[in-house]
Amino acid sequence: MIEQLHDISTHDESRQGEAYSQDGNESKEYSGKFYIESYGCQMNFSDSEIVASILNKAGLGATRNHEEADLVLLNTCSIREKAEQTIRKRLQDLRKSKASNPGMLIGILGCMAERLKSKLLEEEKLVDLVVGPDAYRSLPALIETANGGQKAVNVLLSREETYSDISPVRLDSNGITAFLSIMRGCNNMCSFCVVPFTRGRERSRDPLSIEAEARDLFDKGFREVTLLGQNVDSYRWYHPETSEAFSFANLLERVALIHPDLRVRFSTSHPKDITDDVLYTIAKYENICNYIHLPVQSGNTRILQLMNRTYTREWYMAKVDRIREIIPDCGISSDIIAGFCTETEEEHADTLSIMDYSKYDMSYMFFYSERPGTLAAKRYQDDIPEGIKKRRLQEIVEKQNRLSKESYQQDIGKTYRVLIEGDSKRSKDDWMGRNSQNKVVVFPKPGDRFKKGDYAMVEISGATQATLIGKAV
Ligand code: SAM
Ligand code: SF4
Repeated sequence: MIEQLHDISTHDESRQGEAYSQDGNESKEYSGKFYIESYGCQMNFSDSEIVASILNKAGLGATRNHEEADLVLLNTCSIREKAEQTIRKRLQDLRKSKASNPGMLIGILGCMAERLKSKLLEEEKLVDLVVGPDAYRSLPALIETANGGQKAVNVLLSREETYSDISPVRLDSNGITAFLSIMRGCNNMCSFCVVPFTRGRERSRDPLSIEAEARDLFDKGFREVTLLGQNVDSYRWYHPETSEAFSFANLLERVALIHPDLRVRFSTSHPKDITDDVLYTIAKYENICNYIHLPVQSGNTRILQLMNRTYTREWYMAKVDRIREIIPDCGISSDIIAGFCTETEEEHADTLSIMDYSKYDMSYMFFYSERPGTLAAKRYQDDIPEGIKKRRLQEIVEKQNRLSKESYQQDIGKTYRVLIEGDSKRSKDDWMGRNSQNKVVVFPKPGDRFKKGDYAMVEISGATQATLIGKAV
């Protein structure tokens, strides 16, 4: 499996193209219907909930059936070429629906809208709206323009927009776990990455609005929040009157103090920015999960330099040591890129050996895909043949499979506190939840002792590659 499931930070393959619908006790009457599909990282899924909130206010309710929608939106991803190709194909499918329903508007949101701008309208004639990630507030006005027969585009990036006052509509939610965006954009300029161009400059959201949203979720029965950002460790908010700085460690603490039964997770951490302060805060609070997604990208210092990751192999390894020292049972996962420009076999071997060193529980693994406009596209030649990239990726995947297996096997005999998220996919007689380290745990329901959202102590008796199996004690 190249892109494994159940991670919280990046591309969850099982969710690509997922359509949101507003189920539950929705009683409000709407004047029209919208349909939205989301692609890419968790940030996009989170943004779709903001878009839904804006559209609800404008009188549009969500539907899961695009045939009956007045407005079809694709919230897109540009991270790799394949992501964009998937969306182009999806547009071809929508051509038929539009032919039978000519009044239907089709809109492209997110990173692909930002990257291609009005060029997208020329290339894809059936698209009516192109809206970048910082321009969702203008959707109602853009829809009006498009309904009037004109194409509508807003791809302005902002230095301030955080949508902090918009309460996201939780769609298709399990009612227990939720994602909460704490910042937008990225200032890092990793040479392979298109995100700084599509999502703009980094900006942090007001901590009071984050705390209020988390508290509201807890009051509604949610028991876990994941604080989201491209680089959460560089979260920094300055009080407008006192100029006092508020760090990510401060924010983690603030959210953890809402209630001991509210679990706190976060993603993604950049190895260069995660501080001891953050690690000590995780160690101090039982309800801050012992799990860090710490993408390495490559295990070789020369390649890391070309990638502009600003750390070396040794520096990354020292960070892993520090995590294990301060939080001994911490789960660590990673993102890895195979076959970056000029990578030699020895340098690829360094990636395999840093995986052994770090003992990742899980990784998202990709082969390098050149993105137009990035530093790497401008400076370096994408010179590793696709066959070699794929073979190196396969070696990385096999290594990860072995590491995951070992990590899950080592949990047998241990007892974990598990937050129950719902029925297991395989059987209604089993509960499914996660431990603090973000591993999925499945166990038989012991009568009606527990309900969704409860914590159970579960003794682990077996494991597959991505699931722990146990019994409530
Ligand atoms: N901000 C996060 C970070 O720095 O770790 C993740 C950003 S990105 C949405 C998720 C992952 O996609 C990256 O960590 C990287 O491994 C992968 N990625 C980004 N650009 C890529 C490219 N051009 N080719 C292949 N993989 C890429
Ligand atoms: Fe891209 Fe690097 Fe920013 Fe992550 S930290 S979004 S990989 S530029």
